[in-house]
Amino acid sequence: MPLSKFSRRHRRTWEDEKPEQDIYLEEHRTPPKPPHYYDRVKGRCRMCGLGIYKDDKINKRSTWHPKCADEYMMIYHAGETRRRIWQRDKGQCAKCNNVQPRRSRIKHLKWHVDHIRPLYEQKGKRFDEIDLTYWHEENLQTLCFQCHADKSALEAKDRADKRAIEKEKIDKINDYNKKWVMTKLVNLLQTVTK
Ligand SMILES: [Zn+2]
Ligand SMILES: [Zn+2]
Repeated sequence: MPLSKFSRRHRRTWEDEKPEQDIYLEEHRTPPKPPHYYDRVKGRCRMCGLGIYKDDKINKRSTWHPKCADEYMMIYHAGETRRRIWQRDKGQCAKCNNVQPRRSRIKHLKWHVDHIRPLYEQKGKRFDEIDLTYWHEENLQTLCFQCHADKSALEAKDRADKRAIEKEKIDKINDYNKKWVMTKLVNLLQTVTK
């Protein structure tokens, strides 16, 4: 998208208030926006927060570096992401190589944009802790309906396994603590009854 058109589109978001909740929640599929997005300083980039220069002077008419606007669209606009991934992969599944049509109403003919390193690894992080490369093109692949379902199922199992291991660890610690308290109590009672 040319920057002029992009800037027009984003002029409307100039008044947006910074949301209180600014950690990455998975339902949204996009990270929280950069703090500079809400800064309202003309001549400073809303994505990276650095000055925008034109002929060695701050360009007060602009609020985006072209490259940053590009990155912003890739991360925050699903439609733009899909357009670019389509241009790159042309609907070919990275796992089974089947080619899907660009648009289809039939569920199992739809192609999916999949995050190779899964987004849940970024869950609960603030913007400054987030690894934005998770949303970059190198981390995206086209998967057909079936391969995407298979990968999601594997990931869900992996998460469940990890949770089970965590729970076991916590249970062990709790058990240990309970035993420790019990021995202390018994000792105390013994000294009292002596
Ligand atoms: Zn920038
Ligand atoms: Zn496939």
